[in-house]
Amino acid sequence: MSPSVWVAAVSVGMMVLARVFMGVLALLSGTVSIVSIVLPVAVAVLILIGIIAGQRLAWQWGRLLGLLGGIVLTMAAVGAFANANGEVGMLVVGALLLLQGAPLFPMFFALGMRGAREHFRLICPACGHARPRGGNFLFTEAVCRKCAARWK
Ligand SMILES: [Zn+2]
Repeated sequence: MSPSVWVAAVSVGMMVLARVFMGVLALLSGTVSIVSIVLPVAVAVLILIGIIAGQRLAWQWGRLLGLLGGIVLTMAAVGAFANANGEVGMLVVGALLLLQGAPLFPMFFALGMRGAREHFRLICPACGHARPRGGNFLFTEAVCRKCAARWK
């Protein structure tokens, strides 16, 4: 695997660990249901597996959710810090939100690099253009935006 794929995989792994840790804390304090913890972790783990396996759908969702999640989680962390007023609990929540949000930015950029695009077979075999669109719903087929070549 190319270094950028490793960066992306490690970033998702860090995010999952922070998420699980925060979920355990929330469960212990009895403020959330188990579903609200298991669901995002399951999605992140599926994306992680997909990234390693070179699934284009995982690449697409990893980039989309990575950018959106990175912004939302970082803003939530800033909000927690701003309203903490020295409360340790809120500072811990802020730190855990930041630990989840921060790795998503390097993941987003790593997935956009040439090495990662090669790993996900996003490079057009005909003309070398690296920004195809999905040829079907699951993105198992790609279509070149430049020369319209299709490949698996
Ligand atoms: Zn092409």
